[in-house]
Amino acid sequence: MNAERPMIEVRDLVKRYTVPGRGTVRALAGVSFDVARGETLGLVGESGCGKSTTAQLLVRLERPTSGTIRIAGEDVAHARGARLRRLRRTVQLVFQDPYASLNPRMRVGTAIEEVLAVHDASTTAASRRARVAELLGLVGLPASTADRLPGRLSGGQRQRVGIARALAVRPDVLVLDEPVSALDVSVRAEVMNLVARLRDELGLTCVFISHDLGMVRHIADRIAVMYLGEIVELGSWRTVSDEPLHPYARALQEAVPVADPAAEAAWSARPLAGEVPDAAHPPTGCTFHPRCPLAEDVCRTTAPPLLPVDTGDGEEHLVACHVVARTHGSSD
Ligand code: SF4
Repeated sequence: MNAERPMIEVRDLVKRYTVPGRGTVRALAGVSFDVARGETLGLVGESGCGKSTTAQLLVRLERPTSGTIRIAGEDVAHARGARLRRLRRTVQLVFQDPYASLNPRMRVGTAIEEVLAVHDASTTAASRRARVAELLGLVGLPASTADRLPGRLSGGQRQRVGIARALAVRPDVLVLDEPVSALDVSVRAEVMNLVARLRDELGLTCVFISHDLGMVRHIADRIAVMYLGEIVELGSWRTVSDEPLHPYARALQEAVPVADPAAEAAWSARPLAGEVPDAAHPPTGCTFHPRCPLAEDVCRTTAPPLLPVDTGDGEEHLVACHVVARTHGSSD
C-alpha cells in the first residue's frame, strides 16, 4: 500500500433504511472523509446524526446504500472470501456496552480465546492462553481476569476486556463507538488514557465516536461534526473544539459541560434547543435551519455544500454553511 494513501477513505457514503410506518429514513446523506495512518478522527453529534451508522459501515456490520469505503485500500462493502477475512482482522469495533457483546456465562479468557481461534484456527490452546495473558496485561488487567465472568467485573474492567478482545487479532484500525459513555465519570479518563496510550504504542488508526465534543477533543487529531446524516464541519481538533464556525458546532461547543456529572447528564439528554428533525422527513435546504439562529431565506431552500474556509492556519477546515461561506470566504 502506498504510504501516502489514507488508511481510511470514505466517499459519498449514503445509507437509507426502510422503517415500517416511517418510510425511508436517511441515516447518512453523502459523507466523505479520510483518516491517515496513525491518525484519530473524532465523529461528534447528537443521537441520530449518523455517527453510529458510519461505525457499522466501517466494520461491515452494514453495507452502504451507495458510496464507497476503502480501508488499507480494500473496498469494504464488496470484500469477500479471504479479502473479507483479512479486512475483519484489519478493522475492529469497540462497543459502547461491552457487556452486550460478551456472553455472561463465558469466562473472559475463553471469550478472548474464541476471537483468536476464529481468526487463526492454526493456533494452539497454549499459545492462545499466553496471548490472552499478554492482552490483559496490555489493557492493565491482571492475568487472573481470564478466569472471571463478565458480570463480576466493573464497567471499566469490562470495557478493558472489550478493548483487549478488539486488539486480539492485531488490527490496524479501531472504531470506537461511544466507548466510555456507559462508564462512571470517575473511570472515563482512565479508559480514555488507555485508548490513547495503546493507539500510540500500537500505531493504530482510530475513529472515535461520541456525542461529547469535550471528550473527543482530548483524543482526536481532527474532528468531524455530524448533523442529520451529514458532516457540517471538519477540521483540526483545536479549531473545531475551540473555534468552530458552523452554528451547530458552535452550539455543541457552548454546551460542553463542566466536570459535573449532573450537568453532563442534562446536556446529553438535551444539548440544544429544538428537536433533531425526523430523518424520514428531513427539512429542505440546510437541514439545521429549523434550529439555526442565523438561518436566512436561502437556508430553507438550498443545501450548503461542505467547502474549505480560510482560517489562516494552513490546516484544512471544511464547513457547510451559507453564512460561513459568505463571511469567511471559500479558499477554493
Ligand atoms: Fe444556519 Fe443557514 Fe448556516 Fe444552515 S446554512 S447552519 S441554516 S446559517
